[in-house]
Amino acid sequence: KVLAMGAVGAVLTAFLWTDKFDSGSLKGARVLVTGASTGIGEQMAYHYARFGAQIVITARREHVLQQATEKCASLGAQMVLYIAADMAHPSDPHRVVKFAVDKLGRNKLMELLSLAFVFAGGLDYLVLNHIGSSPFAIWDGDVEHTRWLMQVNFLSYLQMTAAALPSLEHSRGSAIVVSSLLGKMSSPFAGPYAATKFALSGFFGSLRHELSMRNSNVTISMCFLGLIDTQSAMEKIRGYTNMTAHPASEAALHIIKAGATQQWETFYPWTLYPLISTRDMIPFVWDFIIWNIYRY
Ligand code: NDP
Repeated sequence: KVLAMGAVGAVLTAFLWTDKFDSGSLKGARVLVTGASTGIGEQMAYHYARFGAQIVITARREHVLQQATEKCASLGAQMVLYIAADMAHPSDPHRVVKFAVDKLGRNKLMELLSLAFVFAGGLDYLVLNHIGSSPFAIWDGDVEHTRWLMQVNFLSYLQMTAAALPSLEHSRGSAIVVSSLLGKMSSPFAGPYAATKFALSGFFGSLRHELSMRNSNVTISMCFLGLIDTQSAMEKIRGYTNMTAHPASEAALHIIKAGATQQWETFYPWTLYPLISTRDMIPFVWDFIIWNIYRY
């Protein structure tokens, strides 16, 4: 009964917001996507490009960003720029947001006419998606790795949000936070990663309340994903589980729609919703399932 109710709730929720999505609303939208050189972030950049958005993409590897930028331009992006940055470096999150806010929303003609100061840049969507690499394995006691991962997967998200909030407030924009089922529910072999994703849930859940209590214009959208078929994820889980992975391009579109329709929480695939909702009601059932999903 509980599972059926959860499933009905998820289907209704999905139906209600999917219907509201208008791709035209993203034409000319100013978007910063992190972790956009590969995987889901790269797919998000391509979708935003098809919708005619203005995009800044970022990750560490410049040559891969350059290729993604060229593809975005060919797909129809109104403007596309990249900036290489390492989110483990404490000053890079701020530097990236400043770059995006300065550059997006301007065009060459205005700059040539020295009118750029009139049409100062801005940001409509801050899409926080990057993650540092972390082993999928039994925890080996390495606390330093978790400290580093906290900076990349968690603290840099806070730094970028702090830097972007004034622009998002001005544009009535959104911060879209890409998280995981492991940010709601623990599973083996991913302790440090799950810790960073749980931290995101705690922090952005709290921030969302504060923003709405002071009638802020900014929306926070938390996106919880199941297993997605990106190269890095597939390599990590090989030999551990036969779980079905879902297409990165579809996950990317789901995230974009959730952001554009200002959903504060969304799940892809939708089956995560009944799973998470029933986790605390029947924990022993889910523990049993988890222990049987993974090989050890
Ligand atoms: P990928 O590993 O494919 O991509 C990670 C991105 O982050 C790359 O663009 C990478 O580029 C960048 N990156 C890595 N380290 C840094 C760093 N130190 N500084 C800046 N950028 C960095 O990840 P996915 O596409 O699989 O995942 C994307 C999001 O989706 C993540 O938030 C993840 O937690 C979430 N998710 C994914 C799932 C999956 O099964 N794939 C499941 C649940 C959630 P570069 O190496 O060039 O820096």
